[in-house]
Amino acid sequence: MSQPYSMQDEIRLPGFTGTVHLPGEAGYDEGRRSMNPSVDARPALVAEAYGAGDVRAALLAARGHGVPFAVQATGHGTHAACDDGILVRTSPMASVLVDPARRIARVGPGARWGEVIAAAAPFGLAPLSGSSPTVGVTGYTLGGGLGWLARKHGFASDSVLRAEVLLADGRHVTASADSHPELFWALRGGGGGFGVVTSLEFRLYPVAEVFSGFAYFPIEAAAPMLAAYRSWIDDAPDEISTALVLKRMPDDEQVPAAVRGRHVVQLKVVHAGTADQARRLLAPLWRAAGPALLDETRTTTYAATAMGGTPARQLDLLDTVTDSVVGALVRAAEHAQTIEIRHWGGAMGRPGPDAGPVTHRSTKLSVIVDTVLPELAGELRPYANGGTFLNFLADTSRTAAAYTAADLGRLRAVKRAYDPDGFFRVGHVVPA
Ligand SMILES: Cc1cc2nc3c(=O)[nH]c(=O)nc-3n(C[C@H](O)[C@H](O)[C@H](O)COP(=O)(O)OP(=O)(O)OC[C@H]3O[C@@H](n4cnc5c(N)ncnc54)[C@H](O)[C@@H]3O)c2cc1C
Repeated sequence: MSQPYSMQDEIRLPGFTGTVHLPGEAGYDEGRRSMNPSVDARPALVAEAYGAGDVRAALLAARGHGVPFAVQATGHGTHAACDDGILVRTSPMASVLVDPARRIARVGPGARWGEVIAAAAPFGLAPLSGSSPTVGVTGYTLGGGLGWLARKHGFASDSVLRAEVLLADGRHVTASADSHPELFWALRGGGGGFGVVTSLEFRLYPVAEVFSGFAYFPIEAAAPMLAAYRSWIDDAPDEISTALVLKRMPDDEQVPAAVRGRHVVQLKVVHAGTADQARRLLAPLWRAAGPALLDETRTTTYAATAMGGTPARQLDLLDTVTDSVVGALVRAAEHAQTIEIRHWGGAMGRPGPDAGPVTHRSTKLSVIVDTVLPELAGELRPYANGGTFLNFLADTSRTAAAYTAADLGRLRAVKRAYDPDGFFRVGHVVPA
């Protein structure tokens, strides 16, 4: 029976072998830091775990003291504060094992994508990672995981084979197609509210070189490029992934002189194929744009495709680019640092029969803005499907918007079965 916790009580972690950081101590601020600037968490302590046993010890201590509990690998997706509770940092648990024969990786919960990419590359393999190598593999994958190869190979969660999971009652179980299959289903897109994943196994794909990079055009090209994008995306094969970014480039010496301080359209591309194929495919967009200010596209390694993302302060999922949408985006570009229009679809919309609860799979486009623009939101509303991808959602009161009603019902049933008291309640959590 847990005792009511008072701030005067000292939280003890029997059996915990990792490092504990208390408020005011070195490591506390670093450990609690979120990349979401609106989250300023004040946990009672930060517990840096060195193994699954440590995570379990911290979980049981949180239960015993009746305090909140949360897990953080990197802070990239921490959108709610674990105030007065135990915040477990899994960063030291960053093992990465690659089985090149079976094309599988098994990682610890602290592993980041850069580490998996580096471990897989010598075998000509790649994971379904996203825009940044510093994002954590587990948080990304539990939220679905949309990367540059998603149109070709689907969401990262579609490639998960098994997970070791620490449940709310302290039991450790294996979730796979044959073991706790409902939990396995929920983990593949349902987020971190069902247990602490202490090991994750997923498929890798043969991708050695890709054609990728940026090309920059004057902002005046935005309207014709967006208009051309409308039909271009319908014919684009799954091998090619693109985004059009309406962007103010920093006036900074690091930025190439041709685009420094300019308002531009940045074409981002990753093509799992040859440069000739990619240039042929991109020709209609390029024709609509006119001459590039700067072309940095080239054949390169998959590791070099980490091209950065846009912080999603505002997100809409669209199925089409009408003239009104083009007009609204071009007008809004005046008021934002970055507006990213990204093309999805392909294999994302063709899940296997046992795929997890990731939804909005057939969404063609996302519009991500780095600031809140209510006027743009209003103008896009008639064309937006009202949904969101969990990984791009900061507002934890809107978690349900990432799921269909049927999947939400099934997720709640899994939550009731595996966490009936709602022990995991910080962050994107589906209620029981
Ligand atoms: C710069 C940047 C680029 C991004 N690019 C992409 C992208 O290209 N595609 C994409 O899909 N997403 C992208 N994201 C979103 C990212 O996938 C999510 O924010 C994800 O939650 C990050 O996971 P993390 O472990 O790094 O973050 P953390 O903040 O450490 O964890 C986030 C949440 O994940 C859950 N979690 C983490 N570890 C565990 C665990 N072991 N067990 C159970 N739950 C756990 C918890 O709910 C936790 O609150 C990006 C985010 C940023 C900031």
